[in-house]
Amino acid sequence: MLDLPDLLDSLCAVRPDRRPGSPGNAAATELVARTLRALGWAVETPEFPVVDWAGEPGRLTIDGRSWTVHPSPYGTGWTGIAPVHAAASEADLAGEHDGAILLLHGELTAGGPLTPKGYPFYGSDRDTRIIGALEASGAAAVLAITGTAPGIAGSVDPFALVEDSAFTVPAGDLRRDDGAALLATLAAQPSAGARLELPARRWPSTARNVLARRGDQSDRVVVVAHVDTKPGTPGAIDNGTGVVVLLRVAELLADLPADARPGVELLAVNGEDSHQAAGELDYLASADLGQVRLAINVDGAGHRSGPTASSTYGTADTLDLAPLRAHGVVPGEPWPQSDHMVFAMAGVPAIALTSSAMQRLLVDVVHSPHDTPELADPALLEGAAQGIAALVRAQG
Ligand SMILES: [Zn+2]
Repeated sequence: MLDLPDLLDSLCAVRPDRRPGSPGNAAATELVARTLRALGWAVETPEFPVVDWAGEPGRLTIDGRSWTVHPSPYGTGWTGIAPVHAAASEADLAGEHDGAILLLHGELTAGGPLTPKGYPFYGSDRDTRIIGALEASGAAAVLAITGTAPGIAGSVDPFALVEDSAFTVPAGDLRRDDGAALLATLAAQPSAGARLELPARRWPSTARNVLARRGDQSDRVVVVAHVDTKPGTPGAIDNGTGVVVLLRVAELLADLPADARPGVELLAVNGEDSHQAAGELDYLASADLGQVRLAINVDGAGHRSGPTASSTYGTADTLDLAPLRAHGVVPGEPWPQSDHMVFAMAGVPAIALTSSAMQRLLVDVVHSPHDTPELADPALLEGAAQGIAALVRAQG
């Protein structure tokens, strides 16, 4: 039998982390593919382009005072001396900012992260306008005073206002307290020049999804868990546990006959925590979702604080969730994020499994360096996998 804690440790030990395109991400997908093959599944690992990135905290210095600037993930860096122009509204962005460091605050940053350019799953006219104005401003760099946005950016502080590998202006972010002190300094010395050091760079790379199939794929159940992380987190609860559950499901269903109907497709997808969503798009480019009877997504599950919770999206009233309940999965709140929505938005009935404490985890743990394997309860992972395997078998 698979050693679930050992698998979780291995997924969280890769370096630098599991962000798509990084060596750690490649090591994780190789581990998943190797494990699935050893369990007798037919495995494919389609490759697609992504952008990888590295950055270190930098600083903005005015008159001997310095504030830490966090590079926006997937942005570029910049080092130099320039005036700082504070901007709190779209109207402020329309001024003359050529060569300046634009410091965004107020309503420009209060709404949470801006939707990246070309994000495939939703968009915002306001965000598109702001990003267009920033790129047209001629600014040398854009710094945003942000803070936290738990529902969207997890426990990251400061969140990146623009996390976008296509954004053309060097970008960084400041915590709220630092930002307040910086604005006060600027108010006292409006014409002061500032020195910005923002070390960050990005480059083209590749990543892979892992797909394992058994039985009739023209009528199938998909079990999905994302294997990628945000930069800088071990990603135990988000979403090493989901991948471990996926592997355990593979083991529990390893005896499915080659002509099983419905068939099963296990998908370790590589992009849920990336604005590029490259793994999701690569899957959608070739998958015929009309052939998917049901999708089951595991994300953020297994936190030791409480049971695993399920929520449903467009499933028939007749779908019997007793196999999940029999293995300790309780009814949970709707959670219209993550990979089940990729299926639900296409009209495929979907189920999400996550931790019942997910809303609190989004504040404390998710996307942070604190998301480590000891937060997971292996018994919850075993229960989730048993429940999913039984639910899949019950569809036949
Ligand atoms: Zn996740």
